[in-house]
Amino acid sequence: MIVESSLTETRRIVRAARQQGRSVGCVPTMGALHKGHVSLIENARKDCDFIVATIFINPTQFGPNEDFTRYPRTLDADLELCRAAGADLIFTPPVSAMYAESAQTIVRVTRMAQVLEGAHRPGHFDGVSTVVTKLFNVTEPDRAYFGQKDFQQQLIIRQMVLDLDEPVEIITCPTIREADGLAMSSRNRFLSVDERQRASQLFHTLKLAESLAAESTLTPPEIAQQMTNHLKSVNGIDVQYAVIADSATLECLAERSDFAVALVAAKVGSTRLIDNQILRFR
Ligand code: AMP
Repeated sequence: MIVESSLTETRRIVRAARQQGRSVGCVPTMGALHKGHVSLIENARKDCDFIVATIFINPTQFGPNEDFTRYPRTLDADLELCRAAGADLIFTPPVSAMYAESAQTIVRVTRMAQVLEGAHRPGHFDGVSTVVTKLFNVTEPDRAYFGQKDFQQQLIIRQMVLDLDEPVEIITCPTIREADGLAMSSRNRFLSVDERQRASQLFHTLKLAESLAAESTLTPPEIAQQMTNHLKSVNGIDVQYAVIADSATLECLAERSDFAVALVAAKVGSTRLIDNQILRFR
């Protein structure tokens, strides 16, 4: 496994692999890797001949009051996980190599990036879509792997590559969870023992939505209200949203639909968590 911080060298290595006829899979991450990230690399390994994982804590996707400086940095352990999962190349550039002081360009997806996470984290998705475009330009992958955990993010990336004719296939991989259902996240390590217990209520809220969709005649807004009530009943959880939206457009659903996703965001103590679940209405 090669570890590389230079953009030009990374591009050269990937192009050399491609010239040997190997297909290229890219797994963008911000490091602090866990089994969710590992599953993306393993999925890429199944489909592609050459796997490049990127580890870059992208400053432009953090708001001024968010946790950029505090974001966990665990490069040595990350490299071990990448090696074990079968990555061929790790691209881990410094911020200065990704963003020149003279840079003036952002990539912005419009409507879909303004709701939910976009509404609570202004500018977040501009940072995401810009950095992912840059990572794709350096690694030129055939396929790129994203987690369903960040449901809105993978939709936005899909929209972006469609709109910009970027020649990469986006693959969305299932959310990997802890034993009690909590979605794995680099931020879970910030939870105290108490908060960690409460955090699994995000998952239980989604399970509630899943069973109400499958077994009751409630409408999406009525189910969303039950989700909110459930989360609000837990001390120490600050609900940011609990909604049922169209799984292709993210518009909130008024009526039952074959394309529905329940999405939640909540602060548990000072740690902000998100999760989602595809719904099947009966
Ligand atoms: P991050 O390092 O948090 O930016 O995440 C990098 C990639 O890993 C994104 O595509 C995430 O959606 C994905 N990811 C994060 N957590 C999980 C998880 N629990 N299961 C599956 N994929 C995940």
